[in-house]
Amino acid sequence: MRRSNKRPWHEPHVPLDEARARGGVRMTRGPGGVPYQVRRIPRGEKNYVCPWCNQAIPVGTAHVVAWATEHLFGADAAIAERRHWHTGCWAAAERTG
Ligand SMILES: [Zn+2]
Repeated sequence: MRRSNKRPWHEPHVPLDEARARGGVRMTRGPGGVPYQVRRIPRGEKNYVCPWCNQAIPVGTAHVVAWATEHLFGADAAIAERRHWHTGCWAAAERTG
């Protein structure tokens, strides 16, 4: 018998329209259980390195950019330290907590 998975897979996601109203930014909890804002990037304009897997995110790749909403030096510092993640890596980081 399979053990049930206690992770909250079935939590409702923010409806798309609501995400649009916020400019595509959604709140979530990222690595360390810290509140993050996440924005979808449909098409990257630069090469980035994903902090989760240390692999490149090539130009033109859909991915996400995430930053902690609570930062010792305020919101501007938080945004300055935003990182680009593979969509799948961010999902893994969210699940891991
Ligand atoms: Zn990655």
